[in-house]
Parts: sequence; C-alpha cells; structure tokens
Amino acid sequence: MARYKDSVCRLCRRENLKMYLKGNRCYTDKCSIDRRNYPPGQHGQGRVKFSEYGVQLREKQKVKRIYGLLEKQFRLLYKRAEAKRGITGVNMLILLEKRLDNVIYRAGFLTSRSESRQMLKHNHILVNGKRVNIPSFQVKEGDVVEVREKSRKIKRIESALGSVIRRGVPKWIDLDKDNFKCTIKEDPEREDILMPIDEQLIVELYSK
Ligand code: SF4
Repeated sequence: MARYKDSVCRLCRRENLKMYLKGNRCYTDKCSIDRRNYPPGQHGQGRVKFSEYGVQLREKQKVKRIYGLLEKQFRLLYKRAEAKRGITGVNMLILLEKRLDNVIYRAGFLTSRSESRQMLKHNHILVNGKRVNIPSFQVKEGDVVEVREKSRKIKRIESALGSVIRRGVPKWIDLDKDNFKCTIKEDPEREDILMPIDEQLIVELYSK
C-alpha cells in the first residue's frame, strides 16, 4: 500500500502544528517546526487564504497525518463512526484513539505512531497474551497490552519508556512500566485528546 515517504517534518510545517511524527527528535530543539515555522515549498512564506472547503480539507488532512492513516482507511473509520450512536466527530476521534498503534504510542512504549506500527508488524506486541500485529485493531476496556518478553530489550522501547513521564500517559491507560504492560481502564473521552482538532470541520467536509 502506498505510504508517504518524504520528510514527515514537512507535514507538520504544512499543518503549522507539532504532530510528533518523528519520535525523540520532536522533543528536542532540532524540531523543524520550531526552527522554520512556515509551510514548506517555494511559496511557503507567502500568505495563504483558505476557502471554507480548504479549511475543512486541511483539518481532515491534519487528523489523517497525526494518526498516520491513508485516505481509504480514514474514510472507512469515518463510516464506522457515523454508524455508531452519538456525535460522529467524537466517535471518529475515539475510534482513532483506540487503534492499537495509537495505544502503544500513548502508553509510552514508543515515541511515535509510525514506530508503533513497525513494532506491531514485527510481532513484538501482545494483547491479552496473544500476538496481534494489526495496527487498526480496536482495544476495549480491560484489555492488557504488553511488549513480548523477548522484545523488552529493544533499545527504542527501553528508551521510550525511560522518557515516558516527560510525554505523559492519558488517564484511560494504566501503565505498568516495570512490566512493559498497560491496561485499558476505560474508553477515552473527547477531552483526553489534547491535539487541537476541530472534528466538526471533518464532519462538514464528508457531509457535502
Ligand atoms: Fe513534527 Fe517532530 Fe518533525 Fe517537529 S521533529 S516537525 S514535531 S515530526
């Protein structure tokens, strides 16, 4: 499946937002958005005025990029959110948060969602004692997510857990750092998502 292969820092600069796509580097003064806070490209420093559609589109692109989804995957997830009871935009964000690749990142096992996906695909993660290698797997209350015993020596995991306090763990995840394990205490709520996202703009875009 086609994946974005260019510099991910360009994506942050395009959205004018620190999206934490590059792991440890995002927490250092090497972060590109701190150094060059304007959109990439030849006309990046010019003023851009977006239409209503443009604003909605940018918001959707931003959320897709934060969670590392392709358009088709994002559409499918949105349809699931629409089919659920409640507010579609909030449902969408909750479904995104409950993806296993996101849980591994938010629990602090790794410093970016792309690293989490890679670890998952290489079978380093167990859910309730069983190997799961599907990034879109939806966790539920009571699930226990852990790093396989054999994989606990991986440097990236050790170092990510070493700096987890600085990044913080959301209240719906109970991290047992010493045992490379976390438990899903409850479903995430809207206020647990700290990124500046206006989900209603995405609902408006897809309702056209
Ligand atoms: Fe974004 Fe991280 Fe690159 Fe900074 S270092 S621009 S937060 S991906």
